[in-house]
Amino acid sequence: MAKKDYYEVLGVDKNATEQEIKKAYRRLARKYHPDVNKDDENATEKFKEINEAYEVLKDPDKRAQYDQFGHAGMEQGGFDPSGFGGFGNFGDFGTDIFDDIFENFFGGGFSRAQKNGPKRGADIRYDLEISLEEAAFGTEKDIEISRMENCDKCNGTGAKPGTHPQKCSACNGTGEVKNVKKTAFGSFVNVTTCVKCGGKGTIIEEPCPKCFGSGKTRETRKVKVKIPAGVDSGSRLRMSGEGEPGEKGGPPGDLYIIIHVKPHKLFVRQGDDLIYEAPISIVQATLGDEIEIPTLEGKVKLKIPEGTQPGTRFRLKSKGIPHLRGFGRGDLHVRANVVIPRKLNEKQKQLLKKFGEISGEEIKQPPKGFFGKMKDAFGV
Ligand SMILES: [Zn+2]
Ligand SMILES: [Zn+2]
Repeated sequence: MAKKDYYEVLGVDKNATEQEIKKAYRRLARKYHPDVNKDDENATEKFKEINEAYEVLKDPDKRAQYDQFGHAGMEQGGFDPSGFGGFGNFGDFGTDIFDDIFENFFGGGFSRAQKNGPKRGADIRYDLEISLEEAAFGTEKDIEISRMENCDKCNGTGAKPGTHPQKCSACNGTGEVKNVKKTAFGSFVNVTTCVKCGGKGTIIEEPCPKCFGSGKTRETRKVKVKIPAGVDSGSRLRMSGEGEPGEKGGPPGDLYIIIHVKPHKLFVRQGDDLIYEAPISIVQATLGDEIEIPTLEGKVKLKIPEGTQPGTRFRLKSKGIPHLRGFGRGDLHVRANVVIPRKLNEKQKQLLKKFGEISGEEIKQPPKGFFGKMKDAFGV
């Protein structure tokens, strides 16, 4: 059977751009996809043709070869588009993910993963504990991180000083081995990592004694971290480029500092507000007073009005934590914690009783030795 012209199959001009070819292909592939034309044998045949044509025309090299030699040019050079099997694996996909299938399988998805190309270094996480004061006003910390560095003895080559890594003979230095694979949608090149050199493209015959051929050593280094005012537990600071070094010229990863704010002796933090429980005597609460309140920046005075009830809150504006983003600060909330005395001497008791009497209260106190008598009665 004579093969149809690939341009004809896709219905495009000989001078069609890559975009036009892709567009035509997608339109036709959708129309003739076997999932949509389950009972139409011709559609499957047509779909096969479309894929075959696209396989060639989307690739500038193959297209040039085809333009010059026609179908004959395609049989050489390791390209055999006739391997086209069934659609068993695709039968279950619903049409709603149709586009995804095409993105994954056709939309440039054939370009091989850059296994051997530059690789970005890994990120490093560092957990840093700071005080509430440091979180509030910002600080600078020296931290020590351990990360891989290029070996200084071999300059990162991994080869013993005076020797050089040799080009891998199995992959000719490319680090990868190519295989032509036939699939339902035509054949494409499957690239695997070279087993002999592990994808590096080079073989080290005499490894560097310091890094044992890896080219990298683990080093500890000091990093200065600037912590902005207003951070909280869970805040994440990113230090660009301070992570593990990249591979094959890839950029280094980042260093992430995770902030943990230690609990404070006096203050509880709520967002950017602080809460302070102020102990107040019943006399202060009853008569009113002026008390001293600790803040992050020293003490301030606070007037407690007459008749302050337990739990009453007083707000000291802008005495909390500075906002991390934007201007201003949170507040300091002072909560009146009225303390009931536990141990009173005889005179204090008498005065309180007197106070009760004047207020018209009748206090029924257990008689002296009451608990002693209970013990006798129950024989315990
Ligand atoms: Zn190799
Ligand atoms: Zn080394």
